[in-house]
Amino acid sequence: MADPALVEELRNGVRKICSRFPGSYWRDLDARRAYPEEFVDELTKAGYLAALIPEEYGGAGLGVTEASVILEEINRSGGNAGACHAQMYTMGVILRHGSEEQKRRYLPEIAAGRLRLQAFGVTEPTTGSDTTQLKTTAVRKGDRYIVNGQKVFISRTEHSDLMVLLVRTTPLSEVKKRTEGLSVLLVDLREAVGKGLTIRPIRTMMNHSTTELFFEDLEVPAENLIGEEGKGFRYILDGMNAERILIAAECIGDGRWFIDKAVRYAKERVVFGRPIGQNQGVQFPIARAHVQVEAADLMRFRAAELYDAGLPCGAEANMAKLLAADASWEAANVALQTHGGFGFAEEFDVERKFRETRLYQVAPISTNLILSYVAEHVLGLPRSY
Ligand SMILES: Cc1cc2nc3c(=O)[nH]c(=O)nc-3n(C[C@H](O)[C@H](O)[C@H](O)COP(=O)(O)OP(=O)(O)OC[C@H]3O[C@@H](n4cnc5c(N)ncnc54)[C@H](O)[C@@H]3O)c2cc1C
Repeated sequence: MADPALVEELRNGVRKICSRFPGSYWRDLDARRAYPEEFVDELTKAGYLAALIPEEYGGAGLGVTEASVILEEINRSGGNAGACHAQMYTMGVILRHGSEEQKRRYLPEIAAGRLRLQAFGVTEPTTGSDTTQLKTTAVRKGDRYIVNGQKVFISRTEHSDLMVLLVRTTPLSEVKKRTEGLSVLLVDLREAVGKGLTIRPIRTMMNHSTTELFFEDLEVPAENLIGEEGKGFRYILDGMNAERILIAAECIGDGRWFIDKAVRYAKERVVFGRPIGQNQGVQFPIARAHVQVEAADLMRFRAAELYDAGLPCGAEANMAKLLAADASWEAANVALQTHGGFGFAEEFDVERKFRETRLYQVAPISTNLILSYVAEHVLGLPRSY
């Protein structure tokens, strides 16, 4: 169980930082599709992005429960934790599977904010959710790996020093199971760009700094292999429950922001001589969205508690992500509807947050894939793909 006093302290600390970055800050970045450098710097300096790094490596040594509260508060304040959330879970691959030398080399630097590990390269244009079919290869030549292939929607590569990259090191035809033969490389983006790696930004419906990557004989030192060659898929899966819980918390933050915003507006906006919120047609959808956010929050804390206790939590983490993403999307719709025409005006921030929270139906895992997981692994139904 997380210490309630510590959780409260974290909430207050993050809120204080977020209060210096109001809607106008995020709106301006959104218009320019720019990265929130100052915000990420402040969070890093205050140690929040190193929440999950153990104290012996310079981090705060907290659990996923506390880390999730940090991200929730960012989104609840009207900001977007998507700019920096990956640092919390990508470093987990090094922490759990890296050598002691790799941990000592990278984790304290990440914790101190001197290195950013914000990029996580898995998705590919031709294989999508079918991760084990990915086509990017790394072939060992002496003390290097030679990487060739392409990735898509890899976020924050232009704002990160390092990237955790999933590649195939043994061809599919030579492995017994398709989950074998994949490996994780730590790519130093500062050295790679222009020397075998080309980054091309993808402009999306929200400000997300996502990119397309092209690898042409990129050389990566063999010492940057994390763990054992061929076991990379398992390493990536290990981190996914944490990722699901953290993303669920962001959705909860979004949901609460939308509901606060809708309630405030419904009380203030007077039409037909009374506040619109006096009409049940306006207040019931807000109340329903609130109920759904609160219910999803219980599953998020349940999943986080199991994770922090080292217990299996695949089902709960997936269910938390699905429930929270659905709840935030419903709350987004309700907030937009409650604001009428003003919901579409940029200065209210509703349309921006609406666009931002829609992502969670698709990334980092789409709702259908979660339903497949629950059907197959929780309910024992036949595998559908
Ligand atoms: C803004 C943004 C940022 C991202 N950042 C990153 C990142 O940093 N790193 C990274 O690796 N990836 C990232 N992604 C990629 C993201 O994880 C994928 O978009 C997501 O996993 C879905 O893959 P896909 O887009 O290839 O969709 P597809 O796999 O092509 O699926 C398309 C649709 O079909 C459905 N579908 C597919 N197969 C099935 C099935 N068997 N049964 C039922 N439905 C199915 C899916 O649910 C989905 O709705 C990002 C994506 C976006 C949009």
